[in-house]
Amino acid sequence: MDCIELVELVTDYLEGTLPHADHNRFEAHLRECPYCYEYLRQMRATLFALGRIPAESVSPTVQERLLLAFRSWRRD
Ligand SMILES: [Zn+2]
Repeated sequence: MDCIELVELVTDYLEGTLPHADHNRFEAHLRECPYCYEYLRQMRATLFALGRIPAESVSPTVQERLLLAFRSWRRD
């Protein structure tokens, strides 16, 4: 799994609807990628703050910015 796939699956992961195989790949990526770990941590904090998954707040624009951020992190 790469960072882009993880970002796409994070909502399913937090909702607990990720298939078992994807769940394992998701957590394997988290163990080796501090950026996605931090991203998940922030998503989880948002979820707890709102009491639900803010699906409509994750617009394509926001997702695009996140993916750009991942790419720039990887360049460092
Ligand atoms: Zn990652």
